[in-house]
Amino acid sequence: MNLKKSLLSLAIAIFVLQQANGQQKFNYPGEKKEAKTYEGAARDSFTNSNFHEVKDLDFSKVKKKAKNIILLIADGAGASQFFTAIAANHNQAYIEQMKYVGFSKTSSSDDFTTDSAAGGTALSTGEKTYNGAIGLDKSKQPIKTILEIADEQGLATGLVATSKITHATPAAFIAHQPSRNNYQEIAAEFLNTDINVFIGGGLEDFHNREDERNLVKELENKGYQIANSLEELEKVNSGKVASLLADGHMPAYNERGEMLKPATEKAIEILSQDKDGFFLMIEGSQIDWGGHGNNTQMIVEETLDFDHTLGAVLEFAAKDGETLVIVTADHETGGYSVNSGDMKTGKIDGRYTTKHHTGVMVPVFAVGPQAELFSGIYENTAIFDKMMKAFEF
Ligand code: MG
Ligand code: ZN
Repeated sequence: MNLKKSLLSLAIAIFVLQQANGQQKFNYPGEKKEAKTYEGAARDSFTNSNFHEVKDLDFSKVKKKAKNIILLIADGAGASQFFTAIAANHNQAYIEQMKYVGFSKTSSSDDFTTDSAAGGTALSTGEKTYNGAIGLDKSKQPIKTILEIADEQGLATGLVATSKITHATPAAFIAHQPSRNNYQEIAAEFLNTDINVFIGGGLEDFHNREDERNLVKELENKGYQIANSLEELEKVNSGKVASLLADGHMPAYNERGEMLKPATEKAIEILSQDKDGFFLMIEGSQIDWGGHGNNTQMIVEETLDFDHTLGAVLEFAAKDGETLVIVTADHETGGYSVNSGDMKTGKIDGRYTTKHHTGVMVPVFAVGPQAELFSGIYENTAIFDKMMKAFEF
């Protein structure tokens, strides 16, 4: 009897405590009793302490035609990742200064959920292709990329990434390979173009090769200045530059520090010297890896690094008036959501539904000449068409 009584009072005590904590279970209309917790569901919180100032920029004096296009790809970033940059930076970010907003549907030719190779190829060529393809259509025929077309039209071109420069996203703008894993073949394709500036990791694919070619030497013979550190890159002020800053990928932001922003500023400084204009693709490569790892710290730091870099791009574009700036993603990663947080402290409570990519639409932000083209909902391939239109090619 005593045991029963004490069990009853324990149950009452627990009930009262739960009520006091507001933790009792509510039943919402429409709630499915059998709904299960997804196996990959995860929570991971992080409080940011690395804020950047956001200046108000004036885009009122923008020309009609885009002389230059700067395309920034936040690999793996859906609306939640972009919101993370805003929330973790005290409710302000440069992305908010891009007044034209649309959505891109990211599926590939053979999958509801794209990978970065097919996603990058859709953006660079306007063609849906199979997952893994670099600059090829779904029947494996090479397609000209926006970078190659710009080059043919006499514009200067550049690629900047925090991954290997031979990794899927930048590769999709310059190479044509049946598999994204053909890193050494992709590296060799840089020699087939007149790209003016490329900055990222991936030195190993250029000088530690199965065919024993030394592509660094070949680049030098072709007139490239080689910069294997940011200090060396800083000294280059014009001409062509190949800057490979790591053997493999660049380390994550908490180790690499400021690299994407100074690399981007240097690329703009060099490319903007071409009187015909330029095309530049900049990738925040590792936002995707934060999603894969269900790692909120990585998403926060990589999106803030990306937004900080975007600030430098927008400052140039606002002054220049002839530069169309586009920010988008190839796909979302992690099924990431921000369920709660704190704008004052920069705390983000990240939730995840998967360690892989998802099929959701991703935002497209634009500012500058022809930016209004980017409003609406469209396939990822339309971004290529809109860039061609803005360039009047
Ligand atoms: Mg990528
Ligand atoms: Zn990925």
